[in-house]
Amino acid sequence: MYVYYKKDAGRYFGKAEFIRYVKKKTLKTIQKYNMLRFDDKIAVAVSGGKDSVALLYIIDEIEREFPTEIVIVHVDEGIANYSDKSEPIIAKHAKILGYKVCQAKFKDLFGFTIDDVAKYYSEGKMNLEPCSICGEWRRWALNKLARDSGATVLATAHTLDDFAQTVLMNVIRNSLDRLLRLAITRERVVEGFVPRVYPFIELYEKETALYTHLLELDHNDIPCPYAQLSMRWDIRLFLYQQEEKHPGTLYNILRFYQDLLRTVPEQSIELKKCEICNYPTTDNICRAHKLVRMLKSLS
Ligand code: SF4
Repeated sequence: MYVYYKKDAGRYFGKAEFIRYVKKKTLKTIQKYNMLRFDDKIAVAVSGGKDSVALLYIIDEIEREFPTEIVIVHVDEGIANYSDKSEPIIAKHAKILGYKVCQAKFKDLFGFTIDDVAKYYSEGKMNLEPCSICGEWRRWALNKLARDSGATVLATAHTLDDFAQTVLMNVIRNSLDRLLRLAITRERVVEGFVPRVYPFIELYEKETALYTHLLELDHNDIPCPYAQLSMRWDIRLFLYQQEEKHPGTLYNILRFYQDLLRTVPEQSIELKKCEICNYPTTDNICRAHKLVRMLKSLS
């Protein structure tokens, strides 16, 4: 019995074959982009959602053969009936696999939860939707947790879908700088940043979701109440339609991005240290703390 039809490849998969495919594709992606080294300490970012739980189990399986260390890093955004559901799930997986969890809350790091941010947004006090702030703070917090835990690399569960959405968002926002900074390999080391790798970058989100489902891995399947307010949501729907009509669209965006990088000389951006937190930044204060200042001025 088939469980999956891979439309872009015109191929059907049975359950066992599909599970093997996802693991193999992840391993091949790690090797192709030199994402991990044999002596790494890997911080795996686990939100508790389907993708990150799948990533944790696959990295665990791959890395058992190597002397790598693994630590789980997790950020609590402070979204009622959403963030709080993840913690027990992560604790359960950490116990099963025997890994330490390093976690932090936005409230403790920045003084605000994403629920606070959403309240200001709904009251019309600012026009930045919650995801813009949440994404910036998450990047900052995951980097801090990874650094504090002594990790040499940070693995996140971004899929091909996430990557294609991010590329398109940066095009729409005319953010060439940010677009070119979406490094896929870990060759360029920037002091203060733990290099990030994306082992699922060549897998569709529906594939990692099905993997989690087939293995019956416990995960937080409650949707974030603010997701639909973001530009990413609209782009996500648009790209799903395009992928449906033109299978391979998401892969084409990834290939296009790789070709683009090859034609652009490596940028040497002058980075300073944030006056508040020492985080690498192009300005005197990093964006995460500029957002904190902005929110304080509203309260
Ligand atoms: Fe944060 Fe937006 Fe994700 Fe919700 S959907 S967790 S607000 S980035």
